[in-house]
Amino acid sequence: MGSPIVLKLFENNQSAAQTVFRLIKQQEDLLTVNREHSQLMAVNHAAGQHPVVVSRPVFDLISKAKEVSLLEGSCFNVAIGPLVKRWKIGFQGDTVPSPEALRALLPLTDPAHVVLDAQACSVFLTQLGMELDLGAIAKGYIADRVREQLRQMGIEQALINLGGNVLTLGTPAYDDQHTWGIGLQKPFSPNGTMLGVIAVTGKSVVTSGIYERYFEKDGMLYHHILDPKTGYPLDNELLSVTVISDNSIDGDIYTTLLYGMGVEKALHHLTTQPQLEAIFVTKAGQVICSSQRHCQFTLTDNDYHLVLK
Ligand code: AMP
Ligand code: MG
Repeated sequence: MGSPIVLKLFENNQSAAQTVFRLIKQQEDLLTVNREHSQLMAVNHAAGQHPVVVSRPVFDLISKAKEVSLLEGSCFNVAIGPLVKRWKIGFQGDTVPSPEALRALLPLTDPAHVVLDAQACSVFLTQLGMELDLGAIAKGYIADRVREQLRQMGIEQALINLGGNVLTLGTPAYDDQHTWGIGLQKPFSPNGTMLGVIAVTGKSVVTSGIYERYFEKDGMLYHHILDPKTGYPLDNELLSVTVISDNSIDGDIYTTLLYGMGVEKALHHLTTQPQLEAIFVTKAGQVICSSQRHCQFTLTDNDYHLVLK
């Protein structure tokens, strides 16, 4: 998945760890677009030609991603693949495409052209050149599957980190610690440099940030979260968005959705979603917490200042 994976258990249980890593590998093999073969790639290869039957969980995940893509004003787009592949941000050969090239790709990213047949469990991309990309949702989905697996094995205290998607089970098994402390990454600082600590129990903490994958060209920074309307990286006041939620898939979807809204709209939207909480890090040096209902945030960095809403 392009990032290190951490599984924290409080018992010496090699077989549980092996089961978890096998599950992650299996899921990655189904959902990746970074290799020639996966169920998702079979759908992409058949674009403009014919529907492809996929497994039910893959079908459900694509359906969910399409649904979110079609929400009014959504900047989440499951059909963003052609743009992601053209930019290659974070991969070898990343380039700034010409405005004409981007304009030509935009019609191939219409999520309405992803045709789903629930009975046949098939997916059809109606235009040649269309490509699905589940990069903004797959890690969340997989993290939830891992939690389910851990619970089935009777494990109630654990932490899984799929590179930016942290999911906690219960509380840590230390006598003096009743919450998990999740570090909030300081943007554009060495990996592991913290802005502060997010204290949670049994929650998912997902962060999307423009510092995660980017390249610079002629003094401009190009990052990996693309604006489906323009084809260029989203450009607003944000450096990162963190969502605290019960399920990691919701956190993963919402980091992208809120990112696209910008701080003001996002805070307004969150008033209708009491089950979620978000932490925004802005280019102006603010760390803005939407509420402190589901986590406690402690700022530890002097370059930033805290705003509680
Ligand atoms: P995340 O790490 O969850 O922020 O997702 C970022 C990844 O999602 C990118 O690396 C792309 O693969 C994909 N992506 C980029 N822009 C979008 C978008 N507007 N909608 C959906 N997926 C996107
Ligand atoms: Mg995401």
